[in-house]
Amino acid sequence: MKILKAKQIGYCYGVRRAAKLAREQAMLDGKMVFTLGPLMHNPQEVQRLEGEGIVPLESRPLVEIMEHSLVLRSHGVSAELQAQAESLGIRVIDATCPYVKQPRRDLVEFGMEGRHVIIIGDSDHPEVLAQISYATGPISVVETLDDLKKVPIETKIGVVAQTTLNRTKFEEIVGALAARHGDMKVADTICAETDLRQKECKELAEQSDAVVVVGGRNSANTCRLAALANWIEPATYHIEKAEELQIPLPGSPALVALCSGASTPDWIIAEVEARLRES
Ligand code: SF4
Repeated sequence: MKILKAKQIGYCYGVRRAAKLAREQAMLDGKMVFTLGPLMHNPQEVQRLEGEGIVPLESRPLVEIMEHSLVLRSHGVSAELQAQAESLGIRVIDATCPYVKQPRRDLVEFGMEGRHVIIIGDSDHPEVLAQISYATGPISVVETLDDLKKVPIETKIGVVAQTTLNRTKFEEIVGALAARHGDMKVADTICAETDLRQKECKELAEQSDAVVVVGGRNSANTCRLAALANWIEPATYHIEKAEELQIPLPGSPALVALCSGASTPDWIIAEVEARLRES
């Protein structure tokens, strides 16, 4: 069996940067560092980081961690939450990915131009929820073509995308909006790394007899990669860790593609690769 390993694999730039900032702060403080929610959508790595003193805040109130540092994760937090932490005097380390800050700037600008802002993305994703908090005027989240009904038809609009959105979906919804709104500005804020991963995963799925996509089941970008691969190659396996792989893979495929989401650490990928090589 031959493994076709994606070039864009493991942490993306933003998650790698957030993990590095959190680790550096934990070493500097010499005590527990908190993160607003899990630092990345990967349960195994979050658990491992807890051993290094990097712990998700979860339901603890901010007032209980005033002696500690607080790391804002790569997809950002709401403006209110950040302001609240800072007003309490908590040391805030802003690890929001620079590419996540771009749609924020765009939606503020669109708002200043009197545009109804549309975010194309998952309405319950933390990145989208954080972006909404920066809006200064009307804003809607559009997840599907059906959601277009929420947007008043005569309104002039400004469109941004969740950074990890599927490009095909983005283009489909932008096309439908263009047909409805004469005055529309679009900021294509899908991050380049997301684009490259999706493109590469599709190409590898086309060449392979099976695809293994590694990443958290709570990771939206991993789920999108798995769905893309599955559409091309039905023998696609979305796993979080090596032990989940049935070895040998069903049908004993000759060529297996190996891809990962943006929040999957290298050590899990190495374990999966080693297990695949066992077969
Ligand atoms: S997927 Fe892109 S935007 Fe999101 S954290 Fe990674 S590099 Fe940043």
